[in-house]
Amino acid sequence: MRLFEPGKRFYKGNLHMHTTASDGKLSFEEAARRYQEAGYDFICITDHRIRSVDTQTLGKMLVLPGTEIDFFLGNQVIHIVGVNIKESFLSRYDVRWGPQRGINEIRAAGGLAILAHPLWSLNTTETINSLLDLTAVEIYNSTSAPPWNGDRADATGLLDIACAAGVLHNTVAVDDAHHYNGDECLSFIMLQADELSPSSIMQALSDGAFYASQGPQFTQVHFEGDTVRVECSPVARILFHSNRPYAPDRCWQGEGITQASYTIRRDWNERFVRVIIQDEEGRRAWANPIEIPY
Ligand SMILES: [Zn+2]
Ligand SMILES: [Zn+2]
Repeated sequence: MRLFEPGKRFYKGNLHMHTTASDGKLSFEEAARRYQEAGYDFICITDHRIRSVDTQTLGKMLVLPGTEIDFFLGNQVIHIVGVNIKESFLSRYDVRWGPQRGINEIRAAGGLAILAHPLWSLNTTETINSLLDLTAVEIYNSTSAPPWNGDRADATGLLDIACAAGVLHNTVAVDDAHHYNGDECLSFIMLQADELSPSSIMQALSDGAFYASQGPQFTQVHFEGDTVRVECSPVARILFHSNRPYAPDRCWQGEGITQASYTIRRDWNERFVRVIIQDEEGRRAWANPIEIPY
């Protein structure tokens, strides 16, 4: 199997950002302009608890209406991003709903649900894996990195543990831009959609036809026989994560490497593989986890 369709166009998008309609420092117009000038194909505006914009096109960039709703669960907070919600259900939003009803309400409003910044939120793998009908989980959240909000941006390890526990979540990278003092246009997804329309983007998100990135690009990820093969833009490292703690051949390193492979061990009960690539500057990209069929 292949993760990507050969020759099909990728669209670049950020699915999580705030404006002055909630606690962001820039107006929608100014925030959108920055992403437009940076060459993004689509963005989703996700102000807290409200749907602050309508679907619209700015130049060639598509803007999707979204929201971010929040819940408490013991010592954890749970933030859920709703992408492309058709209406604002937030006049009846209730923190007592709890996260699963929050996801269900987002779906009922025509949207897709993404679990935001799980490491920043101190979410456990039990919590993450108990949530049904998530389209993706944020594996990287720019604003959960220094100097903005501590150093819990990268949830790779947490989501590896969630995968090892049996639930393979697709992953996105987002900015969650608030201050717009450098927290914008850093982390994104590359999505293979039929066209740049809300319905095509929603379909591609549902199909998992995307990868998360801060810069490096995947060309293809194949899984044939028992071997995962990767082709990508020139990078300094290619990593193959799985539920197997030790593997001597999971790190590839070099100058401008563009391919690598990894053969799984069924006798070691390997159940998933996540491919991560990293460029010279340390920027990463994450492919969605591949389930190993038995
Ligand atoms: Zn949040
Ligand atoms: Zn947010």
